[in-house]
Amino acid sequence: MPRKKLIAANWKMYKTPEQATAFFRDFLPLVAGHSRDEIAVCPPFVDIAAAVTAAKGSNVGIGAQDMFWEKEGAFTGQISTAMLRAAGCTHVIIGHSERRQFFGETDDTVNKKLKAALAAGLTPIVCVGELLQEREAGLTEDVLRRQTVNAFRGIGAVESAPITVAYEPVWAIGTGRTATPQMAAEAHRLIRAEAAKAFGEPAAQALRILYGGSVKPDNATALMSELEIDGALVGGASLDPKSFTSIVKWGM
Ligand code: PEP
Repeated sequence: MPRKKLIAANWKMYKTPEQATAFFRDFLPLVAGHSRDEIAVCPPFVDIAAAVTAAKGSNVGIGAQDMFWEKEGAFTGQISTAMLRAAGCTHVIIGHSERRQFFGETDDTVNKKLKAALAAGLTPIVCVGELLQEREAGLTEDVLRRQTVNAFRGIGAVESAPITVAYEPVWAIGTGRTATPQMAAEAHRLIRAEAAKAFGEPAAQALRILYGGSVKPDNATALMSELEIDGALVGGASLDPKSFTSIVKWGM
């Protein structure tokens, strides 16, 4: 069965609640009735309420950019999966390279977050990807294998169904450099092979693997036409309603 593509926006640390509301006012009419691809927008935590209100009843899901694995407690600054669900989130990004780079995210914390997200019924978007030095040193496969194996550790085939992986080569994020569709497809095949070892072949065939890293309106169609690429995680180009719409409607 063909995998339905997911086009997800990662707003990073951009937009106030008021700006989020204005985005949806312009964006929703542009994608109304679009059902070929699943659409999600992940704004900063403080914009989630405004985004959920604005997107209510539409074809756009709202996600968070991070979460904590504990249910509740003395964890200043953290947000639980139950809080995200109660706020109306359906998706959550886990292990984005910026969190790995600047906020101490590790393969182990990614695994804990992934298990908690699945237990809460959220659709997790687990980010993996190599640094430029790692690609140049020929370590891309090792890094992807390590990140994927550790993320999936202790998760069964049945539980794994909602998992989405985003392959985001770190050298392509926010740089205007993109992996070619062929480079991405090669990485996706490796990730799918690891998923097959962890969850079995049927689950691996159903696993969605997104590409992220400078996806723009002018390269989206080439990337999304590649059969191994099951959608996109979009940073910079998702901040503008028209540009994000062009990506959602790739090839149309
Ligand atoms: C991202 O934030 O995940 C991302 C891919 O950013 P950009 O599209 O700006 O490269």
